[in-house]
Amino acid sequence: MAAKEAGTIAYEVLRDRMVQEQIESRGIRDRRLLKVMRDTPRHAFVPDDRRDSAYWDMPVPIEHGQTISQPYMVALMTELLRLTGDETVLDVGTGSGYQAAILAQLARRVVSIERIPELARTAAERLAALGFTNVEVVVADGSAGWPESAPYHAILVAAGAPDIPEPLIAQLAPGGRLVVPVGSGGTQVLTAVQTLPDGTRMTETHGPCVFVPLIGEHGWKH
Ligand code: SAM
Repeated sequence: MAAKEAGTIAYEVLRDRMVQEQIESRGIRDRRLLKVMRDTPRHAFVPDDRRDSAYWDMPVPIEHGQTISQPYMVALMTELLRLTGDETVLDVGTGSGYQAAILAQLARRVVSIERIPELARTAAERLAALGFTNVEVVVADGSAGWPESAPYHAILVAAGAPDIPEPLIAQLAPGGRLVVPVGSGGTQVLTAVQTLPDGTRMTETHGPCVFVPLIGEHGWKH
């Protein structure tokens, strides 16, 4: 067997194990999501010298002092959005592009926003090379959302905010869902918000989490 084929199979085994041991075992049940996490080559989203740790149960450092989130956290946040396939989704904090790739297979269109231009460029190139045609990567302060493509049926923020950024709520479609880590200091609480047709909102929390800071006008100032 060619070395490349053997390597590909080895990654498939690691992904299968990741889904079983880290994700299903912790209660994620969405069949479409589990399949997408089994199919998506997470190792292609980490720096070459980190590929060995791509499927470990932890966030992995990427360029510019940022991280690709822990697989379980990607799965939990995605499941909370309850995507059915027809949504427009805003992904705040493109990082490696992995979360955007997961969302792109579960929704119609993804707008992914990143404040560090080099990360945005690499992620966009990576997503294009993998054949994703329904993800647009933009460079901007995602704490203010991206009004150009609003409203969104779902918004996922992969960085910790001091409070729920109000512009993100304003850019949600009625019935839309927002998932964002909220809290001061090093840890946050995973917070899910749904806007209701009468304009009110329902907020739930889903336990502690640890993210790099959301830096911007409606996040941390530095
Ligand atoms: N979703 C990413 C992935 O799949 O690799 C991981 C995201 S990483 C935990 C957080 C990202 O948010 C970093 O790339 C960081 O530069 C970015 N970020 C922080 N503040 C931001 C802001 N205001 N707007 C856009 N991106 C921001």
